[in-house]
Amino acid sequence: MTFVIAEPCIGVKDKSCVEVCPVNCIYEGEDMYYIHPDECIDCQACEAACPVQAIFPDNGVPEKWQSFIEKNRKFFENK
Ligand code: SF4
Repeated sequence: MTFVIAEPCIGVKDKSCVEVCPVNCIYEGEDMYYIHPDECIDCQACEAACPVQAIFPDNGVPEKWQSFIEKNRKFFENK
């Protein structure tokens, strides 16, 4: 399991999650932040810190934002 950032982050980029992540696995993209699926240790700190509730465990992402699981993964494909 890993954590995933979804739609509410777009245009907000509050960055609270970046500050609490113990392994620095949250990276800035143009539109939003992204969680590296292989680096995340599932500590849940970011989920609680997000002021717009954009972060979910990958098995708990709301139906309408399921595409963000792939979007987070894709962001790291060429990195
Ligand atoms: Fe970082 Fe923990 Fe959030 Fe994973 S769950 S992105 S390790 S703060």
